Amino acid sequence: MIISENFPYKHSFFKIFEELTKIPHGSGNTAEIAKHCYDLAIKNNCEAVIDKAGNVIIKRPESQGFENAQPVIIQGHLDMVCEKTPDSDHDFMRDPLKLQFDGKYITAENTTLGGDDGIAVAYALALVEDKDIALPPLEILLTMDEETGLFGAAGLDGSMLSGKNLINLDSEEEGILLCGCAGGLTAIIEHKFELSEHSGTVVKVTLDGLKGGHSGCEIHRRRLNGALVMAKLLKNCGQYLKLVSYKSGTKFNAIPCVCSAEVLVNDAELFTAALEKELDIIRAEKVCAEDQPILTFTAEQKTVSALSNEDSRRIIDYLCNVPDGVISEGETGVITSLNTGVSTLQNGNWHSEALIRSMVNGDLDVIAEKVIKVANSVGFKADFSDRYSAWEYNAVSPLRDKMVEVYEKKFGKKPIVSTIHAGLECGIISDKIPGMDAVSMGPDILDVHTVNERLDAESAIRCFEYLVAILKEMK
Ligand SMILES: [Zn+2]
Repeated sequence: MIISENFPYKHSFFKIFEELTKIPHGSGNTAEIAKHCYDLAIKNNCEAVIDKAGNVIIKRPESQGFENAQPVIIQGHLDMVCEKTPDSDHDFMRDPLKLQFDGKYITAENTTLGGDDGIAVAYALALVEDKDIALPPLEILLTMDEETGLFGAAGLDGSMLSGKNLINLDSEEEGILLCGCAGGLTAIIEHKFELSEHSGTVVKVTLDGLKGGHSGCEIHRRRLNGALVMAKLLKNCGQYLKLVSYKSGTKFNAIPCVCSAEVLVNDAELFTAALEKELDIIRAEKVCAEDQPILTFTAEQKTVSALSNEDSRRIIDYLCNVPDGVISEGETGVITSLNTGVSTLQNGNWHSEALIRSMVNGDLDVIAEKVIKVANSVGFKADFSDRYSAWEYNAVSPLRDKMVEVYEKKFGKKPIVSTIHAGLECGIISDKIPGMDAVSMGPDILDVHTVNERLDAESAIRCFEYLVAILKEMK
């Protein structure tokens, strides 16, 4: 328990945060936490509604002295990523998290903490509960299932909100104000191949030692994509080969760090030697120092169902020609990227999933066209889904100016104004509310989406006080 004698901070949002961690609220399981927020709002005489999608909207009326103020939207998401250590028997559908505090960081024993984005919910509910803080009218929007595809924001009816200023609390680095994020578009590339039976040497090649990572936040590091490296090796190995299987990646938004392929070849020794030689060339190019690619092989004589050599080449050609990684860059970082996250060939079924991201909405379509072209050139079909808008950087943003000004006054230094090459809900919400001015901020939360997730307690206090200071200025 963090709220014990050893926990030195009396701020009410910590207690609220702890209460939230007792309610299981992984993605897909947010009804109970939504009800908890709704009940707390009603208890505090605020208007509240749980919308059709499962989002909670709470309206805190303006305080005295803020009669002329415009409503400010405070936004975060209800769901959390559920990760636990391999030996943990934690049940995310039933068990409360076990909070710990080491004097600096709040963590949860053996699991993710859900500081992303429980801290936003806790901040918002603290403002609902504390009627003594004089504030402008608040429209608190707590969305469901952000982590699995921004579904709450996508299901929002924009007419339920009247504010034009949105403070999103889903950033994880204090002192950085995010003012733009990438949009996304998922591509599914599929083909059904004819198989024929062959007997011979089947080599299972495994490529390992790559760093991988998040396809938005880490794409600029130019880490190697396992599926694409394997394709490059096979393309240049100089062998008459037949693919039996191909497997790389599990998530469309993660750079695959492993790839394995079963390949029917004439001469296993020549084949493996050629792959090693090709890998040496890639190693010499040394795009990213974090990648240490290695190959392992097992060979077996057997009878298998495999693709023809020509069909195998179609898969290899697709992977070698599809755009990969950073496609364009600007002053604030990566503008457009593509990550081929999943590539599988099993029983003749080819399935590949890629995520296109761009800070510019139009670029999503430009890259989609390129994917279609490459897919069609080898006879594959490409489908697109789950499109969400980029939150394009606004040259003019009075809210950003105000937040920079308050930050400087409070902390005696300038905040960093930046954009992020990943999806935030601001893009989707801004799309639904014309004229929206939005900024995203948040306290230091480290190693989010992992069992090492930790919230810096003092950073959380500073951010809360900063948030209140901003709101007080919005008369
Ligand atoms: Zn989040």
